[in-house]
Formats: sequence, C-alpha cells, structure tokens
Amino acid sequence: MPTLGNPTGTIEILKKYNFNFQKRFGQNFLIDSHILEKIVESAEITKEDCVLEIGPGIGTMTQYLAESAGQVIAVEIDKSLIPILEDTLSPYDNVTVINEDILKVDIQKLVEEQNAGKPIKVVANLPYYITTPIIMGLFESHVPLDSITIMVQKEVADRMQVTKDYGALSLAVQYYAKPEIVAYVSPGCFIPKPNVGSAVIRLKRYDRPPVEVRDEAFLFRLIRAAFNQRRKTLANGIGNAGDIPCGREQAQEALEKLGFSPSVRGEALTLQEFALLSNEIYYKIYG
Ligand code: SAM
Repeated sequence: MPTLGNPTGTIEILKKYNFNFQKRFGQNFLIDSHILEKIVESAEITKEDCVLEIGPGIGTMTQYLAESAGQVIAVEIDKSLIPILEDTLSPYDNVTVINEDILKVDIQKLVEEQNAGKPIKVVANLPYYITTPIIMGLFESHVPLDSITIMVQKEVADRMQVTKDYGALSLAVQYYAKPEIVAYVSPGCFIPKPNVGSAVIRLKRYDRPPVEVRDEAFLFRLIRAAFNQRRKTLANGIGNAGDIPCGREQAQEALEKLGFSPSVRGEALTLQEFALLSNEIYYKIYG
C-alpha cells in the first residue's frame, strides 16, 4: 500500500529527513492520491511493463508505479533524496533507483540492459524547467517506447494538443505521438504549491509518423531553425542555421515553389507543410 500521496505521509517523511526543497530542480511533490491513481490508470500499466520514472522525488508516484508495474527504473538527480527513496521504497523489490541527471543518461542502453530492448513506458511528474529537452530527447533518440504519461505545465499540455503548431515541441509531439490530456491539476495538489497550473498528458507513440520525410533528423533541424529565431522570417532562420547547408535565397525559392510567401514565418506552417519544405530543401542540397 502506498504510504505517500497524501499530506500527512509526505510531511512526515520531509520532517524525518529534514529535507530542503531545491527550487532549481523543480521540486513539487504530489500529495493527491486521486491524481496519482489517474496517472497510473491512464498510462495503462500492467505487470508486463517496465516503467521509467523521471524524478521520483521522495518516491510518491514510484510507490504507485511499483504496485502496478513489473519493473520501475527511477532516475533522480538530487542525491539528498536517495536515502529517502531507500526508505520509502523499501517494501518494493521491483524498483531500481539511479542517482543521475536524466539528460545525461543513455536511456537506449538502459532499456537494452533492463528490458531487453523491449518498449518501455515513461511516467513522470516532470521538473518543468526541462520539459522540452526531456520529451524531444526521448522521441528523437528513438528509445523503444510505448507511451509517455507526464505532468507538465498546463499551457505546455494545451499547446501539445493543437494541430496548428506553436513551437518545436508541439511539432515533435505531432510527428511522433497522439496526445491526450488526461487531467488538469491545481497547485493545491502539490507541496510546495507551484505558481502555475498543471496537466497530465499522455503521448501514445505512433507506429508510423503521420507525414513522410526523406530524412527525419533534417526535418527537426529545420523545425529548430524556424523556432530558434522566432522574430526572423523562416528563410532567414534556415539561412542562419549552422547545421543546414542552405542559404536564405535557396530557402526562399523552396518556399515559393510550395506556394508560400518568401517572408513567411515558421509558426504559420503545419507539420505537413514543414515535411514538404524539408523534402524540397533536402532535394535541393543533396539531390
Ligand atoms: N515524482 C515526484 C512526485 O510526483 O511527487 C517528484 C516530482 S518533482 C515535480 C520533479 C523531480 O525531478 C524532483 O524530485 C527533482 O529533484 C527531479 N529532477 C529535477 N531535474 C532532474 C534531472 N535533470 N534528472 C532527474 N531528475 C530530476
């Protein structure tokens, strides 16, 4: 039975270890059992599953995951939480805690070692300061994965669901996965209370992306170039990108060929249009 996921159990553990919250690590711990149950339920976790949890904190969600999954791998950056996790997770023999920065972990290798390369499920109450690199990293590195069920800032979840894009993250999500908001979560469900609203979103990975491109990495270089320099035209952004060997004029020509104004901005294009542009420019450069 989970002992955390409520204010009393959480405060008791925090006091026992005299824990100091680290703002720089985005530490807001869940204290609402209904939300925790909802997350585990919507991630559709079974005893067959290997779950990667990013940022277990004091082990609140880890306890819920350990009850439902076959195996849980939890990666936590803050070393002062490790003795706490040893305590709160002591009833479970199916949890491995790794004290590491998730952005430095070779997740591909981890999945190979711990789950024989079979797809994992990622479940996390994410540290909001690194939402984008975590999600982009998981998708772009082609870690074998079935779904990502995560708590993120409300606005970020809303943006991931729209079909007209507003940024590189929304486009990456549309390319790789079907997003579905599972719940909106108020600040009162955490200790300490965050100063933004939150939402749980489930990203179910597609077997095949909805658009076809000659080179996926090239598509995302183009998307990054478009949104790294938001105030510039798309052609300028591409022309200035160090990792795309295409000048501004060439980019303008490609845009005009596809029926866009040469001064169009990145946010005006849909994923389908970015895919067409990427194929056109790729063809111009590499033939
Ligand atoms: N899962 C816990 C819960 O739901 O109560 C804690 C969630 S809290 C929002 C985010 C957690 O991620 C914190 O424990 C924090 O220390 C950890 N964290 C922050 N940056 C991290 C990183 N780069 N790698 C791994 N863990 C990180």
